[in-house]
Amino acid sequence: MKTKSRLTFLASISILSIAATVFASDHSASSSVSPDAALAKLKEGNARYAGSTVSAGKPTAAKRAETAQVQHPFAVIVACADSRVLPELILDQNIGDLFVIRTAGNVMDDHGLGSVEYAIEHLGTRLVVVLGHERCGAVTAALASDSAPGHVQSLVRDIQPAIKATKGKAGDPLDLAIAENARLVAATIRKEADLGDLAKEVRVVSGVYDLDTGKVEWAKE
Ligand SMILES: [Zn+2]
Repeated sequence: MKTKSRLTFLASISILSIAATVFASDHSASSSVSPDAALAKLKEGNARYAGSTVSAGKPTAAKRAETAQVQHPFAVIVACADSRVLPELILDQNIGDLFVIRTAGNVMDDHGLGSVEYAIEHLGTRLVVVLGHERCGAVTAALASDSAPGHVQSLVRDIQPAIKATKGKAGDPLDLAIAENARLVAATIRKEADLGDLAKEVRVVSGVYDLDTGKVEWAKE
């Protein structure tokens, strides 16, 4: 090959590579982290957090710049609004890593389901984690009564299935209800999220965050 044509050939290859890279970063499915790999990353992150005195997943200007134009979060986290349960910190992740939905009691409504569907269909996310936590105030309220003033009633109402399912079981009633509530919300997402063909690529798991140790106990699916 003559030098000029060889250079032209190499230039064509580079352009093709760039085009392929641009396409890959634009196309959510091709850049997805598999659900198993995503869960492994979260488990490693939580172990880093629980095993150190400070979370290493601090937001940085570099990370902000890297994610300013496009996001590919590798997990959806459905967590409680509790001020002590910060998914990015307790799972040691950074800007752009997690697509987080938070309500008191980590309950799911149409807005939440729409958010889950958006992350899976448009951002390429393939893992959904429902994260309950120890001493959850919303579950405590639901355990105390099936009615509450104002819109708190909607939270207490949606947690009742977990209270009923664990009633009379051996163990601490609040701990049992918290784990069951996270498990039932995960089941609701599996059943009600409208994911079409993507459903078979998606994994939905649940876990409970321990406020004392900083560790997440992952439920068996
Ligand atoms: Zn809570």
